[in-house]
Amino acid sequence: MKFFPVFLDIRDQACLVVGGGEVACRKVSSLLRSGARITVVAPERIDNLARLLDKENMTYRCKSFSDEDVIGFRLVISATDDPSVNQAVHRAALTQGIPVNVVDCPELCSFIFPAVVDRSPLLIAVSTGGASPVLARLVRSRLEAWLPERYGELASLAEHFRERVKQVIEPARRRLFWEQVLQGPLAELVLAGRRPEAVQGMEAVLEAVSHTGQGTPAGFVSLVGAGPGDPELLTLAAVRALQEADVVVYDRLVSAAVMQRVRNDAERVYVGKESGHHTLPQDEVNCLLIRLAREGKRVVRLKGGDPFIFGRGGEEIETLREEGIPFKVIPGVTAASGCAAYAGIPLTHRDRAQSVTFMTGHLKEGETGSYDWKHLARPDQTLVIYMGLQGLTKICQSLIQAGCPADRPAALIEQATTPQQRKVVGTLSDLPMQASCHAIRSPALIIVGDVVNLHHQLTWFAGSAQDQVSATTHLL
Ligand code: SAH
Repeated sequence: MKFFPVFLDIRDQACLVVGGGEVACRKVSSLLRSGARITVVAPERIDNLARLLDKENMTYRCKSFSDEDVIGFRLVISATDDPSVNQAVHRAALTQGIPVNVVDCPELCSFIFPAVVDRSPLLIAVSTGGASPVLARLVRSRLEAWLPERYGELASLAEHFRERVKQVIEPARRRLFWEQVLQGPLAELVLAGRRPEAVQGMEAVLEAVSHTGQGTPAGFVSLVGAGPGDPELLTLAAVRALQEADVVVYDRLVSAAVMQRVRNDAERVYVGKESGHHTLPQDEVNCLLIRLAREGKRVVRLKGGDPFIFGRGGEEIETLREEGIPFKVIPGVTAASGCAAYAGIPLTHRDRAQSVTFMTGHLKEGETGSYDWKHLARPDQTLVIYMGLQGLTKICQSLIQAGCPADRPAALIEQATTPQQRKVVGTLSDLPMQASCHAIRSPALIIVGDVVNLHHQLTWFAGSAQDQVSATTHLL
């Protein structure tokens, strides 16, 4: 470790910036955010810096740098483009024992500026020890994106209650207590912008602890959409929930790659649902969620795609609500969006489809469902059929009988967004035959409509099952 990481309190401390250009201006701004008392030494200054100097009541000394300028300062920054001045500042500061930073010259720095994620009072500093500031900034951007906007407020809530918690909770249990608070329902309230309720909740928990000695914060269920398979399609909120979970209850459609994003020591409970063979009946899944939450756990109920689209998500949270278990819902990329994007088939198009219908093709034996097939057979629209593989023949026939041209384009996309993705493109009349030729298996989605033909121009994603795709193209 070349540099020792510390955070300095420079409020009201005298800091010197040598230089009057763009870079100096940036350094002045960041010092200002920490409340430093700033002096700028430079023979000239740009307008932006002049405005800042006036507004913020700093000292400006209009002169060239000389060694004695550093005397009395706690930090010195040289931001000039003149190597001899930079050298001189470096030497003068070191002689006086003052930490010095020469911008963009790691060899002349006794301290460096990290890339910072500022969610004050939470601060994350990233450094490559001067090796690659750009890389540090890239890491910073990733952290920025990952860290919820209101994480700082969470830190300030913790600060607010820190002393109280010390008084009420014995040292051995304190860490666990904070871990539960900072990842539990009270934290969710803060992150949702409902700090006053979180404060009330915290008061109640501490009150309960001081009276009964029991204050384990209640559990929490997040109903999370896992998307269609590619873990890159998880939302930031979903990734965070997976990282914080004590237990993840998931089903068949959740890909192995998504499950790899789950915190290592979280418990994983498979309640795999396959049409026809429910590993766990819905009631038992509901009871399981309630039991786990009552044990004070952070539960993630993870479902393929979006939990509110053919996912029975509504039913599961209805029971949670009845039982008074706090929950939230994190949407996911539904199969329709995932398949469409990765198959190069836009679901709507100005000239080809002005509306899109999501429907289930899970029709019982011998039934054609209660659909208005005539309506569905009309042109200028796209149909997206979930769970339609088994009923594919019936669906295509019903559409044709209702007046749909037999050559209306139709596609089947299997395991979309994963390396195993396969796409079969044909028409209403030959799609069932093609599906069996290529032994297409679940999960697969059907898209019907003129938009399907756009895939010729728009295909971009090639799963590793590429050979099968070209076989299909050959068939067309
Ligand atoms: N809630 C899910 C849908 C559950 S119904 C969502 O929003 O996507 C299950 C059906 O979704 C499957 O039968 C299939 O039609 C479709 N499906 C889910 N994932 C898929 C994938 N990766 N590729 C193709 N179809 C998929």
